Amino acid sequence: MSVLVFVEGLNGEIKKSSLEAASYGSQVAQQLGTTATAVAIGEVHEEALAKLGEQGITKVLYDADDRLKQFVADAYVKVIAKAAQQESAKVLVFSNSNIGAAVGSKLAVRLNGSLATNVTTLPNTDGGSFIVTRGVFSGKAFADVNLTSDVKIIAVKKNSFEVSENGGATATVEKLSADLADADFAAAPKETVMQDTDGGILLPEAEIVVSGGRGLKGPENWHLVEDLAKALGAATACSKPVSDLDWRPHHEHVGQTGITVSPNLYIAIGISGAIQHLAGVNSSKVIVVINKDPEAPFFKAADYGIVGDAFDVVPKLIEAARALDK
Ligand SMILES: Cc1cc2nc3c(=O)[nH]c(=O)nc-3n(C[C@H](O)[C@H](O)[C@H](O)COP(=O)(O)OP(=O)(O)OC[C@H]3O[C@@H](n4cnc5c(N)ncnc54)[C@H](O)[C@@H]3O)c2cc1C
Repeated sequence: MSVLVFVEGLNGEIKKSSLEAASYGSQVAQQLGTTATAVAIGEVHEEALAKLGEQGITKVLYDADDRLKQFVADAYVKVIAKAAQQESAKVLVFSNSNIGAAVGSKLAVRLNGSLATNVTTLPNTDGGSFIVTRGVFSGKAFADVNLTSDVKIIAVKKNSFEVSENGGATATVEKLSADLADADFAAAPKETVMQDTDGGILLPEAEIVVSGGRGLKGPENWHLVEDLAKALGAATACSKPVSDLDWRPHHEHVGQTGITVSPNLYIAIGISGAIQHLAGVNSSKVIVVINKDPEAPFFKAADYGIVGDAFDVVPKLIEAARALDK
């Protein structure tokens, strides 16, 4: 029996959220006195797979079928189920990403397992239980759930676990083939369009996000967001009303009805911090809020806050960020 971690790739490298899931999975394996294996699909460099040893993974199973370069839920589920069967895995770990949540739920049905998403703690296994804590109600509350079925599936909330580094350790990489048929690709997307920001950074994967709200008064002032983002190497985002008003394109809207982001740093300028906005940003590691109203709700979720007029504060931040770059 082992723990199986599904890792996602981007541009040949393993996504940071999957490195977190791998670190989590190997800690669970240690707790259970077993080992952690990873399964990777699609286009990932073999050196990146071997480096998963640094997160405590001992073996990586890799299906390099060309048709898996783009995400197709049924085909991914079949590959992961094959890996789980081969490894007799009883605990499956994913990142709580769009892909992780989609395959996690389908696998729960296929393997007759129980699924906990948005998980923020290692399991408590006292007395034969398997209790994990998960964020609920857009991160406003937490629930402890006991996974009682034989197969347990966990989607780990982004930025909830540090990426562990076990200096220089490597994992063995083995090919895996799930004998995929054309029928497994029946629901394949015809074309996937990745909408990046002006600086070429994909918003859901960005390490730093600079985001603007209605407090910026109009699209003519967006140079403040763009210049700060450029100075920090960040992606740009906005609140829902901003995209509804056509100040910014819809693919920049973050929140409950928009994109979910989980960067290391989220800078919110002139955004009130409504619960629907927070739902899309509350797994950011550090949140900085700039708002002229000291009572703005966003300050309650902020790690750092600047009470001030964005039109005074942001130019100073841009200057300071540019000076850092020199
Ligand atoms: C079903 C539903 C789903 C929703 N989904 C989303 C979603 O996904 N994402 C989302 O963002 N919203 C969503 N909303 C809308 C959400 O409830 C808020 O209305 C919205 O987030 C507010 O946007 P805002 O903060 O930009 O604007 P406002 O609420 O107008 O806030 C502007 C802020 O700017 C500050 N400000 C004004 N001038 C300045 C200045 N010069 N300098 C600094 N600060 C200044 C003000 O103090 C204020 O706090 C949803 C609502 C519903 C009902």
